[in-house]
Amino acid sequence: MNRLGFLTRTPRWAIAHKFPAEQALTRINDIRIQVGRTGALTPVADLEPINVGGVLVSHATLHNEDEIKRKDIRIGDMAVVQRAGDVIPQVVEIKPDKRPADSKPFEFPTICPECGAHAIREENEAIRRCTGGLTCPAQAKERLKHFVSKDAFDIIGLGDKVIEAFYDDGIIKHPADIFTLEERNGSENDDLFTYGNEGLHLERRVGWGKLSVNNLFKAIRARRIVSLPRFIYALGIPQVGSATALLLAQNYGTFDALQHDMMLRETAKLVAIDGIGGEMGNDIVEFFNEQHNINEIDKLRQYIEVENYVDERRNDSALSGKTLVFTGTLEKMTRAEAKALAQKLGAKVAGSVSAHTDYVVVGVDAGSKAKKAAELGIKTLSETEFIAITEL
Ligand SMILES: [Zn+2]
Repeated sequence: MNRLGFLTRTPRWAIAHKFPAEQALTRINDIRIQVGRTGALTPVADLEPINVGGVLVSHATLHNEDEIKRKDIRIGDMAVVQRAGDVIPQVVEIKPDKRPADSKPFEFPTICPECGAHAIREENEAIRRCTGGLTCPAQAKERLKHFVSKDAFDIIGLGDKVIEAFYDDGIIKHPADIFTLEERNGSENDDLFTYGNEGLHLERRVGWGKLSVNNLFKAIRARRIVSLPRFIYALGIPQVGSATALLLAQNYGTFDALQHDMMLRETAKLVAIDGIGGEMGNDIVEFFNEQHNINEIDKLRQYIEVENYVDERRNDSALSGKTLVFTGTLEKMTRAEAKALAQKLGAKVAGSVSAHTDYVVVGVDAGSKAKKAAELGIKTLSETEFIAITEL
């Protein structure tokens, strides 16, 4: 699923079911290749802007190389574009009879359009990737953006545009550079005429002033102590989102313990974690054995402190160690709140009812899961009963 990027969480059919898809016919003006944080080359169609169901659409995803080939999508083609829910619009089909006479099949690049390194495609992979690593500016910028993003270091003042400008000007090339900004900025008394020689003087940049620079430094200082899940997530390990970062924090407790096991390729504990598959486990181990990642982590830890993870899940509640399944609509809280509450009390929340389920919490309009619970003789709880149990 991860390979399709934006389709990560909700399967496409689920969205299509909820929102009727809207379609329109328009021209593909260009096909651009975007390079992501992990080097993935993603083709995007620039469209002649068109209104699709009340929204102006000017680009659509083309997913990957094979998709372009399968649908024979070319620059200049007239395409049926579809929008469903808040998913990025996509090209459903093209109209070959409306194709210009001089049209040529699209050739997918085999070198990275951002850095010129070879872009290769592993066997059984749908995605072609730039091999430039950190020397690829596109990848480096995307990693920095990820590092400061909301679920990672959450540094206000370092938005996408600022990261790009600071990267291009050599001010921030690596995550660790963020934490030396203030020190490198120079003294207030530096002579204006020697600008450039005695410090960065960010306050002299267009669009910046003393106040915004001070606010930025303050935001950065506030992040010198970071929680373990945030730190793991910020590293940008392939396939490791914030939920997986939390799992790793809960199971290893300290960054040193995690790094130690990974560097020695001791994976017994890792693969025993519910929710971490073999392929993801491999990616995690490889990440920690890559020399440039080791250097980056060492450098970062000179400036920041990673907190040990304190597990706040209780083991003395009525729900500790129990497996719960929610079904139907809850009225006093959202599903996410109920789930978080149960987990905090030490319960595990499963997606489907099985013989291992302890309780099925039944909301309004419950469907097949309530029926299955009855068949298997599993105890069901109303929302009120569930709330009562959480207060025990
Ligand atoms: Zn590249």
